[in-house]
Amino acid sequence: MSKPAMSLPRLCIVATGGTIAGAGVRPQTTMAYAAGALDVDELCARVPGLDEVAGIQAEQFAAIDSKNATPAFWQSLAARVQALLDAGGCDGVVVTHGTDTLEETAYYLHLVLKTDKPVVLVGAMRPATALSPDGPLNLLDAVTVAAHPQAAGRGVLVVLNHQVLGARDAAKTNANRPDAFASPNAGAMGWVQDGRVAWMGWPGHGHTRATPFTASTPLAPVEVLAGYAGGSAALIRAVGATGAKGLVWAGTGNGSASADAQEALDELVRDGVVVVRATRTGSGCVAASGGMPGAGTLSPWKARVLLMLALGAGMGGVQDVFDTY
Ligand code: ASP
Repeated sequence: MSKPAMSLPRLCIVATGGTIAGAGVRPQTTMAYAAGALDVDELCARVPGLDEVAGIQAEQFAAIDSKNATPAFWQSLAARVQALLDAGGCDGVVVTHGTDTLEETAYYLHLVLKTDKPVVLVGAMRPATALSPDGPLNLLDAVTVAAHPQAAGRGVLVVLNHQVLGARDAAKTNANRPDAFASPNAGAMGWVQDGRVAWMGWPGHGHTRATPFTASTPLAPVEVLAGYAGGSAALIRAVGATGAKGLVWAGTGNGSASADAQEALDELVRDGVVVVRATRTGSGCVAASGGMPGAGTLSPWKARVLLMLALGAGMGGVQDVFDTY
């Protein structure tokens, strides 16, 4: 770790790959590139002034495209971040991560880490070698947020394109643009620009120390299926045969299902599969119906993470779990 000036916090940057570390063949290219090609030292070297914000210790945890992230990856990343936070000499952690599944990793960490210290996930939409890459400023902003005295106690945060988003609601809402991330239900928790952070909100649900989950909590197999016009009920019935303990139904509108789909979902429930209703719309609040708990304001992907943990921990009262976390 570089020696920080007396008043600077000491932060660990944990690199996992993604477009923020991506290298393309030409500067003009924003889509043809290899994710996770640059190592963490190169990432940091491209950010002037980083060590004026915090004393930085950087480590390469992985170099993956986040489309390849798995539950086992979440667990080992959480264990590493928890160890850094517990070891002393680390006032907060910034995780660089691909944007494709960043929201899932962020929510998982938000539920399992036992800390009040800031943990910030950051990515980029343009590879490091592109014309006007967004990664270097996003990384500087993420470190600025993690170093801020009021970042503590908010659980895991997501920083991209000047916005500070809470892990529970943050979502990738665009496939290409640098302003890809939003919090469709909760709105931004803060703003970061030119070294200043403005806070605007606080997490509304239990997280980190206020959950029973840890990085060692087993993750039950849970699938996600979506409703759409003419969708085949056979796919729903096939979920039972995969050994899944849960299914998140990303239903049309308010979590609704066609008559055929509903019949197949009811069969799954009778067979002991926990089916949670969510919405494919990208925002809104879905309530329980017909013996199926509602995901509330959680996206289908976040609902899956929570259901994996809840079933893995052997918890009953699934609706209560969804209302609380
Ligand atoms: N496919 C990349 C990833 O998720 C996309 C990105 O990082 O923006 O790793």
